[in-house]
Amino acid sequence: MQQQLLISSLLIHAERHHGEQEVVSRRVEGDVHRSTYRELAVRSRRMANVLAARGIAPGDRVATLAWNGYRHMELYYAASGSGAVLHTLNPRLHPDQVVWIADHAEDQILFFDLTFLPLVEAVASRVKTIKTFVLMTDRAHMPAASKVPDLLCYEELVADASDNFDWPQFDENTASSLCYTSGTTGHPKGVLYSHRSTMLHTYAAALPDALNCSARDTILPVVPMFHVNAWGLPYAACMVGAKLVFPGPFLDGKSLHDLFESEAVTVSAGVPTVWQGLLAHVESNDLKFSTMRRTIIGGSACPPAMMRAFQQRYDVQVLHAWGMTEISPLGTACTLKPKHHLLDEDERMALQAKQGRAVFGVDLKIVSEDGRELPRDGKASGELLVRGPWVIAKYFKGEGGNPLVDSWFPTGDVSTIDADGFMQITDRSKDVIKSGGEWIGSIDLENVAMAHPAVAMAACIGAKHPKWDERPLLLVVKKPGAAVTRNELIEFYDGKIAKWWTPDDVVFLDAIPLGATGKMQKNKLREQFADHELPTA
Ligand code: AMP
Repeated sequence: MQQQLLISSLLIHAERHHGEQEVVSRRVEGDVHRSTYRELAVRSRRMANVLAARGIAPGDRVATLAWNGYRHMELYYAASGSGAVLHTLNPRLHPDQVVWIADHAEDQILFFDLTFLPLVEAVASRVKTIKTFVLMTDRAHMPAASKVPDLLCYEELVADASDNFDWPQFDENTASSLCYTSGTTGHPKGVLYSHRSTMLHTYAAALPDALNCSARDTILPVVPMFHVNAWGLPYAACMVGAKLVFPGPFLDGKSLHDLFESEAVTVSAGVPTVWQGLLAHVESNDLKFSTMRRTIIGGSACPPAMMRAFQQRYDVQVLHAWGMTEISPLGTACTLKPKHHLLDEDERMALQAKQGRAVFGVDLKIVSEDGRELPRDGKASGELLVRGPWVIAKYFKGEGGNPLVDSWFPTGDVSTIDADGFMQITDRSKDVIKSGGEWIGSIDLENVAMAHPAVAMAACIGAKHPKWDERPLLLVVKKPGAAVTRNELIEFYDGKIAKWWTPDDVVFLDAIPLGATGKMQKNKLREQFADHELPTA
């Protein structure tokens, strides 16, 4: 049969075959909400009717500013399933960036959690295309007055809509969702996924040697639904019928551990920073994990000490994975092969510290600076290139031109690949900093510094940080005779960028190394400051 691969089929399947399976959410409002796939499907159909009634046409962008929760999940299916495009905005960005991205995406309607009311109030009069604002809560939690024009209440819209809605059939190459990444230079760029790319990615992600999802699992995605669709877990969970547990905004160690235990979570997924908070809480309170069997760690390299703590102290298996927004995001997962179980503990740990082998559908290779393919010997390191049916061919609206090199997507990561196909990231060629799983644009930070009258040249690099993985370190060459202090420069950032982007430290240099074309050689700076100790706050 010729059937289109459509995201709505996941929800139809989950309702029909796993209707009783639970979807549990800790809500922004503070309580724990219990629901099922059946209810989720009914409410998603209602929401699809709401979108249609509000004039959302196929292809229109439906924006969200929301935590992980059932209402967000309903929008995942209502928007994409009805042929519109779900656009998950990142609420951690500076309001100016949120406005820029919403305008660029031409968002038509915005759904947002209570937490983000102040943010939406700050941007509502500035965004050009959003006509409708919906607060994702019930009447009791609606503000008495708001600066947001004609603010609608999510629960009222759902209650008033019919649940009679037939998911439309259309070409599987239709766009389904949109996510912006700042992981490249210049303005944030949009990555547009299709129904086909999402469905193929979901099949692959659920496989045993990939994220290994099944109906026997209770999955708690800590990775936000505004980060590459929570690594695809909201789709994979429906495909396999796993119980889903959403943490809402409560991502501290205690809240997560409580939820793991009360909901008997077996699998979780997130960036190392989150796990650090969790482990610290568990350690200092002498707790354990009674049901957690596996945790998927990605977004940044998983420190070996974290792996040891999870596996040796708490008997929670770590799955180290690598991916990026541009590849939906899954690229590799570090699942060992049978022969590796003969390795001793240290050797096994060293292997697990690698980002892993390609999941079926993703092809990897590493190349030298002149584009030659390098051997898969675990030693040669070069830029990592990928291709596959869920890898982008271009950014949304063609921004930045053609990113491909000979039909391969250059990741900006530098890695090795060993004879068994295990890839290990060794460096990053892109000039960005990743802090707690979120990008910080080094060029934006340099531009602010360069605007200071005493600064002749500024370079910003990521310095190692025990909690955030990387934090911005600003390296500055002063103008001759000019005077400025570290603290003055740090204060200079006030109000110009999101506060958490502010550099942690400033070091004054006589010169910044430049390459033949006059470009700053940040790899040299990264090497020079590899052991730089950032001041503790
Ligand atoms: P994002 O688009 O925000 O998902 O970021 C993708 C980038 O995060 C990759 O290109 C890598 O630089 C980095 N990254 C993701 N996973 C890992 C990992 N397991 N180890 C090291 N870096 C990672």
